[in-house]
Amino acid sequence: GIAIYPHAATLATIQDKLMQKQRFAAADLAVPAFRGVNDPADVIAAAQDFGYPLVLKARYGGYDGYGNATLHHADDLPTAWAKLADRPPGVMVEQFVPFIAELAVIVLRSRDGEIRTYPVVETVQQNHICHVVRAPATLSPETLQSALTLARQAVELLDGVGVFGVELFLLADGRVLLNEIAPRPHNSGHYTIEACITSQFENHLRAVLGLPLGSTELRAPAAVMVNLLGARNGPIDPWGIRAALATPGVHLHLYGKREVRVGRKMGHITVLGESVDAAEAIARKAATEITL
Ligand code: ADP
Repeated sequence: GIAIYPHAATLATIQDKLMQKQRFAAADLAVPAFRGVNDPADVIAAAQDFGYPLVLKARYGGYDGYGNATLHHADDLPTAWAKLADRPPGVMVEQFVPFIAELAVIVLRSRDGEIRTYPVVETVQQNHICHVVRAPATLSPETLQSALTLARQAVELLDGVGVFGVELFLLADGRVLLNEIAPRPHNSGHYTIEACITSQFENHLRAVLGLPLGSTELRAPAAVMVNLLGARNGPIDPWGIRAALATPGVHLHLYGKREVRVGRKMGHITVLGESVDAAEAIARKAATEITL
């Protein structure tokens, strides 16, 4: 008798990367070729059909690439299998997508099905971890439209309520494939805190509480977010914050994590600008001034 949003069924599907992809494929949404695998022989068989490289993914519990391994040839399989396969409920494989860019869309859906999308953004990953987000993505109107449509269809299909981060691959021929969806405010939407009329966090609360949805429009022509990723392991020891903040337009967020780990998301910087290039130059420079 207690309402929970997003619905438990939405979360159950998303939690399992294989079930998630199966739902999308069954609804004819464009996804990379994939298959569930039960033993190493299944992976070798998939490699024969899909070719190398092949991406082995833990079905549960992966984030920031921690549940993934790329196989360049059969020799890579034993190590990757040992790393991932003992995690219930097992693993899946995917064809390696030769994407020219990774895109993301934050989709917002209310309890009664009203849907709004934030602008399509380009995300740049480093070692499978999001490093930079460029808003908006500078692409043809047709490509932007296919990205928005696919993202919206994915959230509607799962009856999503709240904010969802939809990750996409852009292919050289202009096609867009669905990578995966996150049932929550997402790193690719952190720029919305300063750069949009209503942030992804506020809109998530509005959606799950049944309040009117806020505008998802940009307040500036462009915005760029750069993640502050850990570069060593140990207690946090922040330096360079004054220097970074001395640049006009720099918005700094530190997450209060006490321990730094290599690649760990420790905070981010957002800069608004007249163009993505102008904002990115300032955000990247400010990020290099900070050491954690
Ligand atoms: P996580 O849940 O850990 O974020 P993802 O499946 O989104 O895992 O993968 C993280 C990153 O790995 C993606 O952003 C992309 O850069 C790369 N990746 C994932 N799947 C593929 C694929 N099939 N082909 C090419 N690169 C991939």
